[in-house]
Amino acid sequence: MSAPLFIKVKPEDNVAIAVQDIPQRTPVLPDVKARGLIPQAHKIALRAIPKNQPIIRYGVVLGYAKDDIAPGDWINEHMVILPESPALDHMPYGTNLVSMDKLPDPPITTWMGYKNAQGPAGTRNLLGIMTTVQCVAGVARVAAERIRKELLPKYPNVDGVVAITHPYGCGVAINAAMAYIPIRSLQNILRHPNFGGEIMVLGLGCEKLTYERLLPPEDITPENCLTIQDCHGHDEMMNQIMAMAERKLQKLNTRRREPLPLSDLVVGMQCGGSDAFSGLTANPSAGYAADMLVRGGGTVMFSEVTEVRDGVHMLAARCVSQEVRDRLAAEMKWYDDYLEQGGVDRDANPTPGNKKGGLANIVEKAMGSIAKSGTSPIVEVIGPGERPAKKGLIYAATPASDIVCGPSQIAAGIGLQLFMTGRGTPYGLEIAPVVKICSRNEMKDNWFDMIDISAGQVATGEKTIEEVGTEIFRYMIDVASGVKKPYSDQYGFHNDMCIFNPAPIT
Ligand code: CA
Repeated sequence: MSAPLFIKVKPEDNVAIAVQDIPQRTPVLPDVKARGLIPQAHKIALRAIPKNQPIIRYGVVLGYAKDDIAPGDWINEHMVILPESPALDHMPYGTNLVSMDKLPDPPITTWMGYKNAQGPAGTRNLLGIMTTVQCVAGVARVAAERIRKELLPKYPNVDGVVAITHPYGCGVAINAAMAYIPIRSLQNILRHPNFGGEIMVLGLGCEKLTYERLLPPEDITPENCLTIQDCHGHDEMMNQIMAMAERKLQKLNTRRREPLPLSDLVVGMQCGGSDAFSGLTANPSAGYAADMLVRGGGTVMFSEVTEVRDGVHMLAARCVSQEVRDRLAAEMKWYDDYLEQGGVDRDANPTPGNKKGGLANIVEKAMGSIAKSGTSPIVEVIGPGERPAKKGLIYAATPASDIVCGPSQIAAGIGLQLFMTGRGTPYGLEIAPVVKICSRNEMKDNWFDMIDISAGQVATGEKTIEEVGTEIFRYMIDVASGVKKPYSDQYGFHNDMCIFNPAPIT
């Protein structure tokens, strides 16, 4: 089967995406030839688009033509005028609710996880060492390394030791209105399902983020918290940390994987380094896997406010109630204001790599980004670092920045993240595994041993979204069950816990 020259999504689209580089003068339609080289993933005009008329992809107005566009022209980001973002008031809700029996059945209905007394199950069995403040980060990292070398071999049921170092804790306006976001994030990261309820916190002794702000009173005990300013010199400090860690490891070592229903699994969706194929291949395939998990009773979380803002009306249509729609609108409004304070808008999002990959603006990026949420109804909307109360598809409003969205979803309790990319990134998280799915075969050929799954064959017509989606689902269950390790974990490519802090630094 020969690959198509271009992919057009909806009949009303007046542009399409080049599957490969299209050389100048190549006939693309009976009466249209490429007027210049159309780079792979970039847009070609299928019809004449007069100045100020809409440029349509996904059946959606991406923007308006800055000048007259001829059939066969390459449309780059400089030729598109950004439209207004959709209004947030009175968005119709519940008008596109797909019923559960219309979602694809999961091919597997159980997985092997670590059951917790409360909340979702763990996909890993880890000792987490949280710092209250960045000042202690070096100590936590050195201690974690020593624990891995000296103690971990004695506790074979424990998968690893994580120093949860983060930039928050002191030198911050701890009573600022927005400080609840970083504080809530850290409180929830400490209770991540992969830590099995064991709490180990290293404090300095003079910081603003005190134990009282991080933990409920009953958890502030010498077993859980160590203040290093109280230690007499380096050796005593390290000995105390090692002794504390050993007590935690003894408890964690009793944890075992057991067969669990999909309702015990929470999976986060993210994309980064997207290109114009992301919305055609990787994201809809991951969305198909997301639908399977929701159908099986599990929880899927998607985020990245600036990447859904232009499709918010489509999300409102999938909200199950007015309350959920209102929360969605409130989170979007908050972010609009946040960006405005910085003197920018949501189009500050696309990167040079996104644009090189054919994404003209944030509208085009958003349409591709939303595809990873699948089609199921949105049952709950939460804020950054918050934990959901429901199961099913959750919208967790977080920044789109890969390294900030990740920790925020970790705080929300994801046991695994599906990460879709067009340009490629080594991104990974230490607390929960990240499965990398690329949008193009060329990406997989180049990073053959860093990308877990390629959805590129959807573009070439060799595989369907359903096939790749099912492949992603099966791989996801294997990773969640500890049977497979994604590349980022094999190499230890793990990003920092960059907590979202919209409050002032002092
Ligand atoms: Ca992202």
